[in-house]
Amino acid sequence: MKKARERYPHGHSIPQPVMFSGVKILPIPVLANNYSYLVIDTHSNTAAAIDPSDPLAVQAAIEQEGVTLEAILCTHKHWDHSGGNVVLRRLYGSCRVYGSACDAIPELTNPLSDKETIAVGQLRFKALFTPGHTVGHMVYVLDGKPFEGPACLFSGDLLFLSGCGRIFEGTPETMLASLDTAADLAEDTLLWPGHEYALDCLMFASLLERANPVLEQKLQWVNQQRLEKRSTCPSTIGEEKEYNPFLRTHCRELHRALQLQQLSDEDWDSFRARVLKEVRHRKDLYKAN
Ligand SMILES: [Zn+2]
Repeated sequence: MKKARERYPHGHSIPQPVMFSGVKILPIPVLANNYSYLVIDTHSNTAAAIDPSDPLAVQAAIEQEGVTLEAILCTHKHWDHSGGNVVLRRLYGSCRVYGSACDAIPELTNPLSDKETIAVGQLRFKALFTPGHTVGHMVYVLDGKPFEGPACLFSGDLLFLSGCGRIFEGTPETMLASLDTAADLAEDTLLWPGHEYALDCLMFASLLERANPVLEQKLQWVNQQRLEKRSTCPSTIGEEKEYNPFLRTHCRELHRALQLQQLSDEDWDSFRARVLKEVRHRKDLYKAN
């Protein structure tokens, strides 16, 4: 623990790497409760960095692991997800920078379209266009099949454990479609979000759904993890659907809690977007308090 603090002086959590045969996922806790990630192909010792904000923390992880940085995968333009691009490109000149051309991502070399595949060594990521937080927000899904593991979703500011990003550059309808993209992934997909917000998000969710045993259990677990300064990542898409209110806009329990009803002339997705808007609004107020 002391060692981790020395290595990651800005760390909000103790890094807890996950390994499958041929791949290592290393969360790098940085800055404002952010996570960058180093995803390593352990056969070729090549790596991709997801959302590097603090270049020195990412550099320390690269050197510690003894890997070559081949690519930076940026979910969106905000500084706490892309602020390390310039320095990392200066340090590792051959490193490619991926992201959406709609989002002014520093040092972008490889603009992506929806569902495009990115290869880094044996790693295969699929980029999915998920606008709403920003106009060009993208998430990355690492294919788990070659490693006989589950897929991994690096969700940036689209989806957090029990939460979602603020809707800065889109409508609730846009954000709903993007959240549906995440919800459509396999249930066992591991969720690696852009921030450690789990405790706050679950406490908010428990105000909406007061009798959800899965939520209650997760809150207890997260509470314990955070007392020990441990990361709460990853959860799974299957788990998230059980308690994350932003993925539960179809749930009667949530409609009842919000006192919202589908109007007779309102289609289902418009109603769900209205539910999402209300949950987001309440979360914004909750955070302000
Ligand atoms: Zn952001």
